[in-house]
Amino acid sequence: MFSTARTWESLFPTGPKVAWFASVWFKGRIPKHAFIAWINSRNRIHTRDRLIRWGLNVPSACLLCNAHDETRQHLFFDYGYSAEIWLYFTLKAQVSPPLLFDDRTIWLKNPSRDRNICLILRLAYQASMYLVWKERNSRLHNNMSHPTSLLITQIKQILRCHLDPLSRAQRHIDPDQSFLVTWFRLFD
Ligand SMILES: [Zn+2]
Repeated sequence: MFSTARTWESLFPTGPKVAWFASVWFKGRIPKHAFIAWINSRNRIHTRDRLIRWGLNVPSACLLCNAHDETRQHLFFDYGYSAEIWLYFTLKAQVSPPLLFDDRTIWLKNPSRDRNICLILRLAYQASMYLVWKERNSRLHNNMSHPTSLLITQIKQILRCHLDPLSRAQRHIDPDQSFLVTWFRLFD
């Protein structure tokens, strides 16, 4: 018999709970975005520095700027492209997250005193990671590049659509305290 619990167990074997668990598998996540964030938190995303370490003969340059080696920290954090997207959301929320990958993942467990902002920041973080990785692959495979403004617009559309049903499900709270009200007040 098919067992969801067993499938879950084989995908995510129980071990000591890692520090970033709650900031990746939070309630209200977007599954495909959380999946990339999970792979990335385990340092398993195939950035060029890792491929080279495995002995593959690939160029080392970052596909976004061509001026630095492609590493996880560079691609998702240090380079202006990713930083600019993330800055859009952190400025709106008036928060200043840590600069290193692991520190930021832990910080995302509780990035604000407002729980709506916490959820929105975690969603924005995972969405930007997902779309930056997609952008990187689009440059590699299709030779197509898109400006950060387009990615920010896409993230905003995704989050607005995602927060709508989540807000409707918040029956126990005052309607002007909903996720969507926080979204329109601060981020849109
Ligand atoms: Zn770069």
